[in-house]
Amino acid sequence: MIPSILPTYNRAPLSFVKGEGSWLTTDQGERYLDLGAGIAVNALGHANPMLVDALTAQANKVWHLSNLYQIPEQQALADALVAKTFADTAFFTNSGTESCELAVKMARKYWYEKGQPDRVKIITFSGAFHGRSSAGIAAAGSEKMVKGFGPMLPGFVHLEFGDDAAFAEAMKDPDVAAVLIEPIQGEGGIRPVPDATLKAMRAACDETGALLILDEVQCGVARTGKLFAHEWAGITPDIMMVAKGIGGGFPLGVVLATENAASGMVAGTHGSTYGGNPLGCAVGLAVLNEVSTPEFLEEVGRKSGLLRQKLEGLIASHPDVFESVRGTGLMLGLKCKVANGDVVNAGYAQHVLTVAAADNVVRLLPALNITDEDIGEAVSRLDLAAASLSSDG
Ligand SMILES: *Cc1c(COP(=O)(O)O)cnc(C)c1O
Repeated sequence: MIPSILPTYNRAPLSFVKGEGSWLTTDQGERYLDLGAGIAVNALGHANPMLVDALTAQANKVWHLSNLYQIPEQQALADALVAKTFADTAFFTNSGTESCELAVKMARKYWYEKGQPDRVKIITFSGAFHGRSSAGIAAAGSEKMVKGFGPMLPGFVHLEFGDDAAFAEAMKDPDVAAVLIEPIQGEGGIRPVPDATLKAMRAACDETGALLILDEVQCGVARTGKLFAHEWAGITPDIMMVAKGIGGGFPLGVVLATENAASGMVAGTHGSTYGGNPLGCAVGLAVLNEVSTPEFLEEVGRKSGLLRQKLEGLIASHPDVFESVRGTGLMLGLKCKVANGDVVNAGYAQHVLTVAAADNVVRLLPALNITDEDIGEAVSRLDLAAASLSSDG
């Protein structure tokens, strides 16, 4: 008999009923140190008092209005995002995949309005993850995601991640409308795009007019120690997809764009019932105000340094389990020599939560305000987990 929850997930037998900071407590009263943060979502930890206040204060005012009306909290968050980023305008969604939908629609509408309706191709890269909608899976294009779900939305040009020559060649096609890339692949295994490559992509887009769409759903919102990851490369996109961390655990996403890139999206061309609702935007503004200060971003960088240093030690102690650490800020990946799923499971046994990714990587995506003490505790637990897997015990 089919379970009452559609069986699309492989869940660990852990049932959490309460959270505080970087810790989760099971229904058995056991505490786990959370280095996954709901896959880079709980940017400020669990049950953060400031976010609880923002949510409950708004809940006592009004929950939902619809975009038939002005929504002051949405306006405030849009103004703050525009002030703090490259963007001139924002559209709110409830998830990363919805942000992907709009990014794709916006890029195509842009060229349609410019009188080039055939200019619909969007270049994407292997190992990418852009969500599970029809556009999202067509964009990523991996067999694992698309198999059985055809016909696929056409118009995506899939290139090998890191193949700069193929990219240069693909950009010669006059029907390329946009380039879509994650500055650091998350699901793909914490694979950073080199700054020089992002710069070259920006330059190539400037040359042809193609729009540069960055998917910062996982790497954005202070995760890397900059408010958005592309800032490290000193470039700006035309369109950016955001979700995960921006709501601190409340479902919230946003597409940010320049005035030029958004020029086709006039009244009536897109919409969302829940997108930009008062609850999500009130929480999002509280998150943004916290994570965008120079002090907070600096702390993410410092904590990253501390964690990385300890992880280097971990790798040195367990060269048969781990190969290397990669990533930026608090978006780190441990490339494993044993099956990454075994490392995640061994972590469960030591009450530390990590997240598997492709390329045999274990992701560490802790709350951005994780304490130094918890960083030390986390690596001690990972050390015990690795010891349980080492051939020499
Ligand atoms: C998680 C993720 C998405 C999809 O977001 P959902 O909120 O699950 O729809 C898209 N892109 C990237 C890079 C992601 O990490």
